[in-house]
Amino acid sequence: IDSQSLELLNVLDAEIHELAKRRKTIELGLAKGIESNELVLDFQPVEDLKTGLVCGLEALVRWTHPELGRIMPCEFIGVAEDSGLIDALGDWVIESTSRAILELHQQGFPLWCAVNCSAGQLLNPDFPNKAQKALQEAGLDPRWIEFEVTESAAIDDMTRTVEALKKLKLQGSQIAMDDFGTGYASLNYLRQLPVDVLKIDKSFVMDLLEDKNSHMIVKAVIDLAHALGMVVHAEGIETAEQRASLIQMGCDRLQGYWFSRPMDLAALQIWLSQHTAT
Ligand code: C2E
Ligand code: CA
Ligand code: CA
Ligand code: CA
Repeated sequence: IDSQSLELLNVLDAEIHELAKRRKTIELGLAKGIESNELVLDFQPVEDLKTGLVCGLEALVRWTHPELGRIMPCEFIGVAEDSGLIDALGDWVIESTSRAILELHQQGFPLWCAVNCSAGQLLNPDFPNKAQKALQEAGLDPRWIEFEVTESAAIDDMTRTVEALKKLKLQGSQIAMDDFGTGYASLNYLRQLPVDVLKIDKSFVMDLLEDKNSHMIVKAVIDLAHALGMVVHAEGIETAEQRASLIQMGCDRLQGYWFSRPMDLAALQIWLSQHTAT
C-alpha cells in the first residue's frame, strides 16, 4: 500500500470515527434534549390553490444541541423511534404546536397546522386521548390540527391504525397520508384508511417535468384521490413550472420552497403579516 492510499485510509477512518461519535452524542443527549426544551419547531406555509393564499402550516421539529448546534430531524427521529423516546418527542411537538397555533389565531391568522406522527406513536393505544388532552389544555379546537401519518404504521398493524385514526377524526382533527407513493401497497391501504388529505411525495414532483411516467402517475393519483373524496396536497414544489403543472392537474394545495421555506415562529409571524390581508 503506497503512502497516498494510506493517507486516504486515515482520512476515511477519521471521518467514520467522527460520524460514529456524532451518532453516539445524539443518542446520549436526546432524552435530556427533549426534557430541557432544546427542541424547536419550524413551520412551513401551505398554499391553497383556489385562492393563492396561505391556508395552513406543517410543524417540523429541529434540535438545538448544546455542542453540535442545529440538528435536522433526519438525524434524530430514527434515534427517537429506536430508543423509545418518540412518544415523549411527539407529545412535545403536539403541545408546542398547539401553543403556537393558538398564538397565531390570537394575532388574527386563522391557520390549521399539520403535525407528523411516527408509526410508534400512532400504535400506542393512548395516543388519541393524549393528543386530545394536550389540545384541550392548550385551549385549541382539534379541528385546527391535521395528523400526518405514513403508510408504515398501517403496514405494521392495519386494525390498530384504523382504530387510532377514527378516534382522532371523531375528536374533530383531519388525517393526512404523508409521503404518498413511497411506501408499499399504497392504493390498497388508501381504500381502507380514513384519510382526508393525500400528500404526494416530493420525489414525484421532482420528476414531474422530465419524466412522462411520473406525470401520468401524479395525474392518476390526483384523480383517484378526488374520486375518494380526498384533498390533494403536493409537497416539494420548488419551481413555477412544477406549480403550473400541478395546478393544471387539479391539485388542491401546494407546499415547497417556491411558496416558502420552513421558518421559526418569529419569522413566520413577519412572513404572515406580509402575505395575508388582515
Ligand atoms: P416530511 O414530513 O416529508 O417533511 C417535509 C420535508 O421536506 C421537510 O424536511 C421540509 O423542510 C422539506 N421541504 C419542504 N419543501 C421542500 C422543497 O421545496 N424541496 C425540498 N427538497 N425539500 C422541501 P425536514 O424538516 O428536514 O423534515 C424531514 C422529515 O423529518 C419529515 O419529512 C418528517 O418525516 C420528519 N419529521 C419532521 N418533524 C417531525 C416530527 O415532529 N415528528 C416526526 N415523527 N417526524 C418529523
Ligand atoms: Ca410530513
Ligand atoms: Ca412528506
Ligand atoms: Ca418525507
